[in-house]
Amino acid sequence: MATPPATIWSDILGQVRLNYPQLARGWFFELQLTKLEDGVLHIGTRNHAQSDYLQQHCRAAFTEAAQAATGRLVSVTIEVEPVQEDHPEAVLSLSGHSDQLLLNPDYTFDNFVTGPCNRLAHAAALAVAEEPGRAYNPFFIHGRVGLGKTHLLQAICHAIRKKRSDTTSHYISCETFINDFIEAVELGGLHRFRYRYRHVDVLVIDDIQFLADRERSQEEFFHTFNTLYQSQRQIILSADCSPSEIPSLEERLISRFNSGLVALLDRPCLETRMAIIHKKAKLRCIEVPEEVIRFVASRIDTNIRSLEGTLVKIDALSQMYSGAITLEIAQEALGADSGRAVKIPSILEAVSKRFDMKVSDLQGKKRSKAVTHPRHVSIFLARQLTSQSLEEIGGYFGGRDHSTVLHASRTIERQADEDPQLRALLDEIASEVKNGAY
Ligand code: ADP
Ligand code: MG
Repeated sequence: MATPPATIWSDILGQVRLNYPQLARGWFFELQLTKLEDGVLHIGTRNHAQSDYLQQHCRAAFTEAAQAATGRLVSVTIEVEPVQEDHPEAVLSLSGHSDQLLLNPDYTFDNFVTGPCNRLAHAAALAVAEEPGRAYNPFFIHGRVGLGKTHLLQAICHAIRKKRSDTTSHYISCETFINDFIEAVELGGLHRFRYRYRHVDVLVIDDIQFLADRERSQEEFFHTFNTLYQSQRQIILSADCSPSEIPSLEERLISRFNSGLVALLDRPCLETRMAIIHKKAKLRCIEVPEEVIRFVASRIDTNIRSLEGTLVKIDALSQMYSGAITLEIAQEALGADSGRAVKIPSILEAVSKRFDMKVSDLQGKKRSKAVTHPRHVSIFLARQLTSQSLEEIGGYFGGRDHSTVLHASRTIERQADEDPQLRALLDEIASEVKNGAY
């Protein structure tokens, strides 16, 4: 062939990046074009997570690019290259785990940005990956949607699979556990089910809050937990709330979950959000100017998933205009009406007016109910309407710590669920503040 493979390969990668920007990843450069033989182009990956991603999402894009680059009707094969792994055995021990969820190759420790919002959870996750069954057992991560629970759980699995070829890990969603259990009961496969779940070194279950109201699954999980725990196997769980806040979770499970380390993932502060966009841009091979990063990070105060979604949207728009990413494009992607950022002092003003009290009382130490309720309302609104982390919010309320802020916010959330009048009041104050009345 006239063109040497190295040129073909960079050609192919360039085409994929150009034609399918949403699929491109920085780690594509670690892939290898192992051979081009009998019309088949062999792409070698470093691990199963990468090859699963390529098989599922990128096969057509790579085939199209390969055909354009070679000018021939080639097909594409993706395979794990054992020689590329630090521990070749790790690759072998992975095969045959079809009942596990696929790991996302992007969800590694390298790609996880740390900040005050997640430092404890991250440090503990590293320790657990280093010495499963010893450091913190069970390890329970909780936080709202889109704050990195799944990412951290999978990062632990990646690290264990890479470094500890003799350690078996099982990563599943809680729904899979429940469905497997129901199926085992219905089809008489309980013995197999128990063997499978009770003979792993590391059991990782994502979104364990789905055990709520599932009595029999809770019972089964309790025994699974005990068996694993007693033999010093690692149990790692995530949920969208703390153990005691999972509705109708049996007391004995709550106490088991609390017996290890419970770590919270909080909303990231502005600096961490900027670092995350940086990281995501690098991962997706997108060049984003600093001012755009700052703009997006200051506008998006919901979850990190939406930060990433916005980045992809901005990239797509810039490709459409066939130019570089600019602030104007970012503004367009976010929409002209993406709203002004709400500030905590405006919330304090609005709440103090509603409850006819001084702002300083909202921020102060007085603990009578007449003061604590409006204070909790302010904290709740600060959580809802701003992108500030628990620590930052606590700072506005006399330096209260993150658990106090979380407790206050959840108290109001619960009360509002049962009290339509309170809900209406919260909505009213929120819309006043958002409309700039304060
Ligand atoms: P959850 O499971 O808590 O709902 P995910 O783990 O699915 O959230 O995270 C949502 C998205 O945000 C993912 O793309 C993930 O990579 C990203 N993300 C969350 N936290 C971080 C972080 N600290 N650093 C980098 N990316 C993050
Ligand atoms: Mg998740």
